[in-house]
Amino acid sequence: MARSKGKVIAENAYKIKSSKIAGRGGFATRAIKKGERLMEYLGERVSHAVADSRYDDAKHALHHTFLFAVNRSVVIDAAVHGNDARFLNHSCAPNCEALIEKSRVFIEAIRDIVKGEELLYDYAYTRDGSETDEEEFQLYACRCGAKSCRGTILAPLSKAELKKRAAAAKKRHHPRHTVARTGHAG
Ligand SMILES: [Zn+2]
Repeated sequence: MARSKGKVIAENAYKIKSSKIAGRGGFATRAIKKGERLMEYLGERVSHAVADSRYDDAKHALHHTFLFAVNRSVVIDAAVHGNDARFLNHSCAPNCEALIEKSRVFIEAIRDIVKGEELLYDYAYTRDGSETDEEEFQLYACRCGAKSCRGTILAPLSKAELKKRAAAAKKRHHPRHTVARTGHAG
């Protein structure tokens, strides 16, 4: 899909309220057109090392962070000075996407959305190839309810990753990698 640069953020397109999927979510308050830019994902911009030090996954029974990996050097932590974007829920069959443009992250509609619909995007949590089945389907379990639900909010595995993963499973699992949401380059 063609994307124009420097788009303005739509106004009065959504509100935050409780969601059946998890916690709070964003819901369309009017019809939204495919391609509309709805919000920017804001928060403190930190290094991966700082993000890793803040959130040790091994200590958390449930995974709850507002981290978004922008690129290899920057992670946005929306727990600090974050905005409404942090409340948007994940879906394996989303109606929005997180678009990375000049190191900023924007949430845009990828299809027409009707009033009242929940705004959802694919978190595609970063992987390092060492994820165990337990992490994949319990710690990062997805219950979005989509027919195409892959059962996890981790990013889909490519064939190359599947091979790497089989090799990595033979080694000891190392728990230092902190996962974060990520998006598509604009
Ligand atoms: Zn799902």
